[in-house]
Amino acid sequence: MSKSEQHRFKEFQDHLDDDNDEGPNVPTYGSRHSAIDFPKTEFPKESLAPRAAAQMVLDMHQLDANPRLDMASFVTTWMEPEAEQVIAATQNINIVDSSQYPQCVEMDNRCVKMIADLWHAPKPKSDDIKEQTLGTSTIGSSEACMLGGLALKRRWQVARKKAGKPTDKPNLVLGINAQVCWEKFCVYFEVEPRYVPVDDDVPVMQPQNAEKYIDENTIGLVVMFGSTYNGQYEDVEASDKMISKVNKEKGLDVRIHVDAASGGFVAPFIYENIKWDFLLDNVNSINTSGHKYGLVYPGVGWVIWRNNSCVDESLQFHVAYLGTDQISLQLNFSKNANMVAAQYYQIVRLGFEGYRRIMSNLMKVAGHLAEGLLATGHFKLIGHGPGLPVVAFALKDGRTDAKGNDIKYDEFDIMDRLKEYHWQLPAYNLPKNAEHQKMLRVVIREDHSFEMISDLITDMKRVIDWLDHHFVYTEKEMTDLRAKFSADHPDHSKKHKKHYHSPNNKKKAGVC
Ligand SMILES: *Cc1c(COP(=O)(O)O)cnc(C)c1O
Repeated sequence: MSKSEQHRFKEFQDHLDDDNDEGPNVPTYGSRHSAIDFPKTEFPKESLAPRAAAQMVLDMHQLDANPRLDMASFVTTWMEPEAEQVIAATQNINIVDSSQYPQCVEMDNRCVKMIADLWHAPKPKSDDIKEQTLGTSTIGSSEACMLGGLALKRRWQVARKKAGKPTDKPNLVLGINAQVCWEKFCVYFEVEPRYVPVDDDVPVMQPQNAEKYIDENTIGLVVMFGSTYNGQYEDVEASDKMISKVNKEKGLDVRIHVDAASGGFVAPFIYENIKWDFLLDNVNSINTSGHKYGLVYPGVGWVIWRNNSCVDESLQFHVAYLGTDQISLQLNFSKNANMVAAQYYQIVRLGFEGYRRIMSNLMKVAGHLAEGLLATGHFKLIGHGPGLPVVAFALKDGRTDAKGNDIKYDEFDIMDRLKEYHWQLPAYNLPKNAEHQKMLRVVIREDHSFEMISDLITDMKRVIDWLDHHFVYTEKEMTDLRAKFSADHPDHSKKHKKHYHSPNNKKKAGVC
């Protein structure tokens, strides 16, 4: 900045510093806070007018992506206006105060019972506490998985102690593709994870490969019912058979936890022929994310046990609730009631038929995307068999570019270019053993219609076309081209220059 320019701006700065007025008549962007570098690490000394503060927060949020175009996420990004009304009406309720808010607690209890029913938990035959359905709302599947894992661990410890055997080396058997919350569980609760390897062809745990990892110190087998990588279901029925066999042969009592974070609200409605829930004898507990295909905004998950006998008494806390005894087993204490109320709304609003309609639409839309991608001739799908409305795909091997050379761009470049069209579509690598395979994933959610996915396919074609024509030049060819363009279009030379990349420079593709 030149001296005179500095002077010009300084005058305004001084003027603003004098004017401390934040009264209601000051225009939102006329507030002095609109023109200062607001402190970011020190606790602010003074207050700020609500309008100015709100605007500051909202402006900061402007640079976040549009959640509905986040094609990677399983988490709900759209709900009906009536649901938003329910959420607004219950957002100042702390659901842990059961005596003040018995109705919200009742909604929670009803959701537990209805989800247990959906998953075929056995109906209690008597009033015996051990036979009663047991489950709880959580903040999400992660908390639900912690609780499921904890119950397995305690169950194993109690049995080992009873038999006079050591309890210092618990292990958990799970696929290397398991969601990160399981790694956390093992670290937080000191359990050795025994990861079953996967491969490119079948990037999920296969029960026949898991068998050899199970021994007397195994607290349980975790089965991903909807692998986060590609949406494929791990085979719970075959896992159940394998566990029955191993338990019999080795005299063990290993149980299964099904991580149905996504699948728990998909499969029951459209895959009625798949056996994956409490109909299988060894399934001890199941979790789901209410905020994934339960169709609720972030902040709710569920864990359900076959019945009360699956959770050792020592983990069950009792709270007085309207003169009765309520069992509590959560990691949190205070929690917003709004997402529980929203889950209750969705279940009564949609019913089985509503969820079925939505989930079958999503499978159709996912099919449309898969077909559209395959039709480009550039992609292959990752994994097969039944699963979630998720399309996991990668560039075909051995593709050549417009000049017949090996392609010089990868899935990460596609991700970067798609951002130009506002799509957030993350690239990543498959887990260990298959990590050389890069891939892209689209999770089809309720608010992704056929039309919207057609737009994504169109933009994907544009991106591929662009990449095919911009990653083909050698350094020399590019220099020549730039020179040619500058000569032909002196005005546009700058613009065009921006769009050419050296193959050696390809990681910068996204910022051009
Ligand atoms: C999303 C997911 C989780 C974690 O769920 P949150 O609700 O985000 O805590 C755990 N397991 C699987 C299989 C998932 O897909």
